[in-house]
Amino acid sequence: MKRQQENEINCLSGLNLAELEDFAHSLEMPAFRGRQIHSWIYEKYAGSFDEMTDLPAAARELLKEKAKVPLLELKHLQVSKDGTRKYLFALPDGQLVESVLMRFADRKTISACVSSQVGCAVGCTFCATGYLGFKRNLTSQEIVDQIMSMQRESELRIANIVFMGQGEPLLNCDEVIKSVHTIIDSVKIGGRHITISTSGIIPGINRLAKEHLPITLALSLHAPDPQTREQIVPITKKFPLHELIPALRNYESVTKRRLTIEYVMLAGVTDTVEQAKALCDLVRDLHCNVNLIPFNPIEDSTGKQIYERPSRQSQEKFKSIVERSGRTVTIRLERGTDIDAACGQLHNKMLNKN
Ligand code: SAH
Ligand code: SF4
Repeated sequence: MKRQQENEINCLSGLNLAELEDFAHSLEMPAFRGRQIHSWIYEKYAGSFDEMTDLPAAARELLKEKAKVPLLELKHLQVSKDGTRKYLFALPDGQLVESVLMRFADRKTISACVSSQVGCAVGCTFCATGYLGFKRNLTSQEIVDQIMSMQRESELRIANIVFMGQGEPLLNCDEVIKSVHTIIDSVKIGGRHITISTSGIIPGINRLAKEHLPITLALSLHAPDPQTREQIVPITKKFPLHELIPALRNYESVTKRRLTIEYVMLAGVTDTVEQAKALCDLVRDLHCNVNLIPFNPIEDSTGKQIYERPSRQSQEKFKSIVERSGRTVTIRLERGTDIDAACGQLHNKMLNKN
């Protein structure tokens, strides 16, 4: 890290151990001060230097002058009846991102959904983030501090991370991979509890295969036929299904990890019996679970409702056809529907207000 400028305020939450040691060094403190700060941030969720009581008073004063703990600023928090907490955070340059903390009644553990970009360039037609367009990539620190900010605010320990917030993680590979290392090493969430979801960026999938990260890869497939997929996930034109499926097979054979296939259910567009059968054929050679996601209604940029969610009956019918091919199929439990929990929705609403 560059030697710190005299009056520059540094934010420390979200940095890894080496970066915190470098920071301590830049203030002419011994490296172990960096380790102490690291343990206060990641083990005790400290949000200020005053809480770091085993640091000498003079060191705390110097730190207060030169740095801050949190990087992100909480702009808005919505709490759902089901316990889901949806956060809107401001980044240092004022851009906004969303993160969601989810509690499931049938599970003890808490999961969190993080954003990897401001907006998204992929432009899926059913996704509120797609309508925002692409603004910029997040840094690893901005990704990790979403998790720490949620833990500090809620005082809850997060056990699972999904990269299913705003943005396409595999169009921001360097920072996403760096953040995964910090999540494993500093936040102490094991790779088996981290899922990266992608719309199908083949170079990113190949890169992840080489990194050998012990994470789960989720592919947002959404349609088994090229025509429908091109229509709803426009990146299909660049990364077609006939190249994507072999890339997934390669990922699977290199990493020996089971994939998750995500499939958004749009009434009359992706939920037909033919598509359920075609989905089974397409993923025949993959070891994967299938997660059906009932469409979470959003409006397009003109305020028009687009797509409809299929009835429960047609969701179940689709599920049973795919199950007959021997796969484990789940229908995603909806969380926080009373608080705009679909990614990009809160962000859009706040932008429209301002
Ligand atoms: N860009 C990545 C990860 C973020 S989106 C990806 O596309 O995989 C996370 C998941 O939410 C994706 O499967 C996406 O297709 C789904 N999703 C987005 N908008 C949705 C909506 N309105 N209803 C249901 N699922 C949605
Ligand atoms: Fe981007 Fe994922 Fe939304 Fe598609 S679904 S626009 S890839 S965030």
